[in-house]
Amino acid sequence: MIISMKLGATKEQAEDVCKRIEDFGYRVHSIQGEERVVIAAVGKGDVTHCLESLLSYDSVESAVRISAPYKFVSRQYQADRSQIKMGDAVIGGDEFVVMAGPCSVETEDQIMASAEAVAAAGGKILRGGAYKPRTSPYDFQGLEEEGLKLLRKAGDAHGLAVITEVMTVTNVNIVAEYADVLQIGARNVQNFPLLKAVGRVERPVMLKRGLSSTIKELLLSAEYIVSHGNPNVILCERGIRTFETETRNVLDIQAVPVLNKLTHLPIVLDPAHSSGRRDLIPQIARACVSIGADGMMVETHPTPESAWSDGPQSLTFAGFKQMMEDLKPYVDLWKKSRPVAAPVQA
Ligand code: PEP
Ligand code: MN
Repeated sequence: MIISMKLGATKEQAEDVCKRIEDFGYRVHSIQGEERVVIAAVGKGDVTHCLESLLSYDSVESAVRISAPYKFVSRQYQADRSQIKMGDAVIGGDEFVVMAGPCSVETEDQIMASAEAVAAAGGKILRGGAYKPRTSPYDFQGLEEEGLKLLRKAGDAHGLAVITEVMTVTNVNIVAEYADVLQIGARNVQNFPLLKAVGRVERPVMLKRGLSSTIKELLLSAEYIVSHGNPNVILCERGIRTFETETRNVLDIQAVPVLNKLTHLPIVLDPAHSSGRRDLIPQIARACVSIGADGMMVETHPTPESAWSDGPQSLTFAGFKQMMEDLKPYVDLWKKSRPVAAPVQA
């Protein structure tokens, strides 16, 4: 069940309602939203009786039954798509948002040039890893705080919001200090202490689906973040692992319409980490727009052949520009077929 308290309901009134729900045998989880307190009740109990009882409280606005194991991220909790502000860009609204930049921040020249190319081609968010989750411990692990500083500088210089990965609980604050959006990588999708920690910061989070996460597991991971106080979660499908070896992973584009039915959160596709191949990205990008994703993330590098990570899947600047040009008619169709979005919350 999800119980929304009325505007202006006091803390005591919310506590009273929580107590009542617990008396029915449920566990409660409440979050203080910008406007009101919302309570999720989970577990087993007499739903009908409990709902009736709750609806008779003057302080309760609504109480609805939600059968999915995730509550706050479900469509039943919120029918309108969430729109999330990242710098000047809004994802989940009327714009198909492209995030791009190198896999890793390497040097000032590299990230500055990338920011310029991303902005010039119409990208809205600059990406660049400063803490890198590498399969091998011998590979480049990221410039850490120095990388964060360079990324921020490059984003500011070209009017772009910046997104970067946070890998550990201890780094959440420092990454949040520099970045507009925190990325949780595929390998950390079930790092529950990390999910709780980013649930406590006031920065949007982009949560990547794990290599072997089911959609339900992804939504439960998002629920961790939201139930710890941060409603601004963007989901990212970045390819799942299958028996196929021609591509790095397989992009599950059907996750977009499936997720759109289950959740109000925005969804981004990442054809770079799914394919691992620069030559395929422009074609897959067309599918990302056509399937109705809210945005896309790709990698671009001034000289992909000398990139310190993910060179083979990084577009050249010319390739990125060309892809963005080629996408325009698709984005126009995307806009026409887009259901009208509710006004964005300030
Ligand atoms: C990345 O975005 O560079 C990255 C490491 O992504 P993923 O977690 O999807 O592998
Ligand atoms: Mn990468």
